[in-house]
Amino acid sequence: MPCLKALGGIRQMNVLVVGGAGYIGSHAVKTLVEHGHRVTVVDNLVRGHRQAVHPAATFYAIGLADTPDLVRVLRDHAIDCVMHFAALAYVGESVKEPLAYYDNNTAGTISLLKAMREAGVHRLVFSSTCATYGEPTSLPIVETTPQAPVNPYGWSKWCVERVLRDCAAADPELAFVALRYFNVAGCASDGSLGEDHDPETHLIPSLLLAALGRRGPVAIFGTDYPTPDGTCIRDYIHVEDLCEAHILAMDALQPGDTRFYNLGIGRGYSVREVIEAAKVVTGVSIPVEIGPRRPGDPPVLYADASKIQRELGWAARTRTVEPMIATAWNWFRSHPEGYGDKEPV
Ligand code: UDP
Repeated sequence: MPCLKALGGIRQMNVLVVGGAGYIGSHAVKTLVEHGHRVTVVDNLVRGHRQAVHPAATFYAIGLADTPDLVRVLRDHAIDCVMHFAALAYVGESVKEPLAYYDNNTAGTISLLKAMREAGVHRLVFSSTCATYGEPTSLPIVETTPQAPVNPYGWSKWCVERVLRDCAAADPELAFVALRYFNVAGCASDGSLGEDHDPETHLIPSLLLAALGRRGPVAIFGTDYPTPDGTCIRDYIHVEDLCEAHILAMDALQPGDTRFYNLGIGRGYSVREVIEAAKVVTGVSIPVEIGPRRPGDPPVLYADASKIQRELGWAARTRTVEPMIATAWNWFRSHPEGYGDKEPV
């Protein structure tokens, strides 16, 4: 039976965070705990870090494909809502390894949905992506902008959105919200959690690792895009703002809901602008070089996130990229080895 308790105006829920040892998932676990929810985490630790899981959460090293184990955890912890972050999320890698992306991101989510159905869990907050829009026909991107992904990562998430719509049509009790993230950035402002990917390919952490001298120059992936300075434009959102949106979305879910929301700040930064911001924040002349385009990169992506603001009252607190970079810089400076759990080479 769902266990919902009124606690000072908020409903305390038993939440399963799938992928709760990863970058965004671990921040979401912390936010959920701080909001008074009881949190269980499953993560296969292929890309996540055990140390990143909040001590108040119960942890299981389980993969998405292990449907019976997921059913057991959902039942044992009387889970009310699942937040699903477990995904491979590198555009470039997805172009080279499409099967891994469809297997983990699409088939893995189907396994999770089967487990939820078997255990009678009906609420899901799903991490979708602006990559489902591909090269948008108009800007800023609204939720009704046609979706036409341009890389397997985007398609693997698009497929899940399709599956979710069909499952919801077949099961009136199912309620889901798909949050289409733009570029998530920054780290916990109290310095307790960070970003530790292997390999690290994202722009901001790559710049900060270069600032620390832990890697060579960062390549700018293309300077011949149809943008003012020739480099790609993205909408960066602070990870803590993103996590707050998950809480609001979870609280709003009612049986039969099928919701889709963009999560960004509604402002685009070019690669060159992010590099300049990183130089200002770090005070370091970060080495960069000009490289070729990366396959699968749309030139410009930025959100209109007014729908979630209107419907759920969410708004990003951090509205420029510099403070996002500053929280990440705080983490990278104090954790030059990341979580320190990598195999010695
Ligand atoms: N980018 C870049 N050099 C890098 C990493 C990223 O020029 O070493 C660019 C990338 O082409 C994109 C933007 O920075 O336009 C953000 O890329 P990231 O990989 O951080 O996130 P994505 O947009 O792929 O989710």
